[in-house]
Amino acid sequence: MIIAIDGPAGSGKTTVGRMVADAQGFALVDTGLFYRAVTVEARRRGIAADDVHGLTRMLGELRIEINTSPAAGRTGPLLSIDGRDVSREAHDPAIAGELSRISGIAEVRRLLIEPQRRAAPGDAVVLGRDIGTVIFPSADVKFFFTAPAAERVARRRRELDQVRGSATPDALLEQEVEARDRADQEREIAPLRPASDAIIIATEGKSVGQVFDEVMARLPKH
Ligand code: C5P
Repeated sequence: MIIAIDGPAGSGKTTVGRMVADAQGFALVDTGLFYRAVTVEARRRGIAADDVHGLTRMLGELRIEINTSPAAGRTGPLLSIDGRDVSREAHDPAIAGELSRISGIAEVRRLLIEPQRRAAPGDAVVLGRDIGTVIFPSADVKFFFTAPAAERVARRRRELDQVRGSATPDALLEQEVEARDRADQEREIAPLRPASDAIIIATEGKSVGQVFDEVMARLPKH
């Protein structure tokens, strides 16, 4: 069974998705990691975020491995490229601008379709922006999480402050959440939007537990 969860940054997909995957005994496939991997490697190689040829050539050579264990006690890195653990760099808020530009390139998106599908061969919770519309259009159930920008920024601030161990500057957060969402919504190819058959989950003012319960209640019974 494929459970698709799409939505903007800070809408709670990752936290709730992990809980759902754990409860179901499913894999957790966070597809944002693929775009993050391409961005991190492009930076390392000095390839500009608008160099389509450079990026596509690079993509042909890369071995991107994402860890699909939802459990807190998972072993091995969350994300690796050619065997190198890049989990930390992948979540550096400083890459947000390039991440948006790279995710908007049609050819990059096309080349990442198969790796994303291969990452979820069986039962999986798949998180992203275009899972219900492009990657798994026939997913068994599709959710689309929403939350107002202010709440998403506040959640992201808490997450990032924890990871960074210091307060994240407002300008960085603006780029990290609002500018990235705007770019994701406005891009021509595979923009962030709910599939016509998605269940919309408004997370505003709800606890993680409440959102989890709502999702679990809507899963198909087999
Ligand atoms: O989910 P996460 O915030 O890690 O995603 C990082 C970026 O990757 C998003 O802002 C978006 O530009 C891109 N992305 C995408 N399609 C997906 C998943 C992520 O375009 N399915």
